[in-house]
Amino acid sequence: MATLISPASAPPREPSAAARVFLEGSHRLLIGNDWVAGEGRSIAVENPARGEIIAEVRAASLDQLDQAVSAARSALHGDWGRMSGRDRGVLLSRFADLLDERAELIGEVMTLDNGSPLTSSTMVVRHLAAELFRYYAGWATKITGDSFQPSLTARPNLDFLVATVRDPIGVVGAIVPWNAPPGMIALKMAPALAAGCTVVLKTAELAPLVGELFAALWLEAGGPAGAFNLIHGHGEDIGAAMAAHPHIDKIAFTGSTAVGRKIVEAATGNLKKVSLELGGKSPVIVFPDADLDAVIPAAAMACYLSTGQQCMAGSRLFVHADIYDQVTEGVAAYARTLKVGDGLASDTVLGPLISARQKARVLEYMAIAKAEGAIPLLESELIDGPGHFLGPALFTDVTAGMRIEQEEVFGPVLVAIRFSDEEGVIDAVNGTAYGLSGSVWTRDVTRALRVAKRVDSGQVGINIHAAMSAETPFGGNRQSGWGREFGREGLDGYLKTKAISINLGPKL
Ligand code: NAD
Repeated sequence: MATLISPASAPPREPSAAARVFLEGSHRLLIGNDWVAGEGRSIAVENPARGEIIAEVRAASLDQLDQAVSAARSALHGDWGRMSGRDRGVLLSRFADLLDERAELIGEVMTLDNGSPLTSSTMVVRHLAAELFRYYAGWATKITGDSFQPSLTARPNLDFLVATVRDPIGVVGAIVPWNAPPGMIALKMAPALAAGCTVVLKTAELAPLVGELFAALWLEAGGPAGAFNLIHGHGEDIGAAMAAHPHIDKIAFTGSTAVGRKIVEAATGNLKKVSLELGGKSPVIVFPDADLDAVIPAAAMACYLSTGQQCMAGSRLFVHADIYDQVTEGVAAYARTLKVGDGLASDTVLGPLISARQKARVLEYMAIAKAEGAIPLLESELIDGPGHFLGPALFTDVTAGMRIEQEEVFGPVLVAIRFSDEEGVIDAVNGTAYGLSGSVWTRDVTRALRVAKRVDSGQVGINIHAAMSAETPFGGNRQSGWGREFGREGLDGYLKTKAISINLGPKL
């Protein structure tokens, strides 16, 4: 086994006083702006870096889910429903400012909850969550319809004017994963509220704590009762009940493709709208003329960022045969320098995996890769101890169609595939069930655009992987999802259009 793992050298600091007060306080649900104790199953929240239980959270019961949905439905016709777009925008801006103010605490709680390095967690709060609220605050005053005179109607002797209005879709059930809770919550909450919808948010059972801080900020910002409700719960009961709930109008889901499929099936009862942000197996495609000094660290981080636990991870590295050895060896050398450790250690770059189960799954995929004939150029050395640590791994000699090339691992496992011609690489790149992200690396602008256009995914970077901004649409093709988040399209998913036809009388 190749040696690896650069352990973080700085000792992790202890949680701050503010974080300890939060962890030791009571953990509750927010229903109609009231904090209530959950009456469902208990959830023991583990810090994955230390294997310690840091909080006990109680899930909502099915009755409490109904109460949250009723509160959300009443709010549609109450103070929230009467609030102007301007006032919704002001509220969302205030929420953005509060997120900035509390970014240190929210980031720290995210780190304790899911293991992310503290700098990344704080960045998710400031640069993703707060900016999304700020961006969608602006949209709240720009939701307008259209008006036109139709060219031909079924009543050719009459003149008509058509006015379209854009209404909120209604009650939104938001279901989020554990890998970046502040960003995932903001991606649902901000556009839904900007559109005038109301929200029942279910946190992920593996990292439920950040949601409570969002609920506290909602109260502090002066959000009206019922427009935003927070519940905890496991996917198989509370999540499934949300997907099937007759009074939820839309499910906005981020998570695995397998669960996305279950949600679609459960949603058929009232044919609620469903948006899905699902898994990926995204390609990083490197041509021989690429700037390799830029490619090597970028390709490593495209996969290993968040210890591989990110949907747009560039987990398949397609490298032209002429530079295959140079790039794969470069990526392995770079990966060896990445410090693995507790997110509260100042030099940690890669935190732990979320759970013992996830670590076992990643190890199983590494065994599958070897059984399929892939060569481990870099292999994780196991770290003893209670945390779920695993360093980066890189497999070479991987060919299209192997399971390790097809299936999402959600861990720090990169596979390198050799290619020799552009046509062949496009077929291989598009040869999985997924189509979420990807990047093309070359100095030839024509080739870059030609290849980027043919990669069948929701977003593609040229000489950058996973460039994101509040206004850039993000989402998956094929089994990576339905719909888009971010940008104007992210707002559109929470609106429904009504056309009102006005009879202007006989044509003169
Ligand atoms: P998961 O699908 O296991 O869980 C996600 C959420 O769904 C959790 O809140 C869970 O409680 C809930 N859930 C589970 N079963 C359910 C059911 N039957 N009905 C309703 N809800 C249910 O995913 P995860 O392990 O939390 O997250 C990892 C996955 O999320 C990866 O596949 C990753 O690619 C994907 N992801 C996608 C994006 C994106 O934007 N496309 C972003 C982050 C993560």
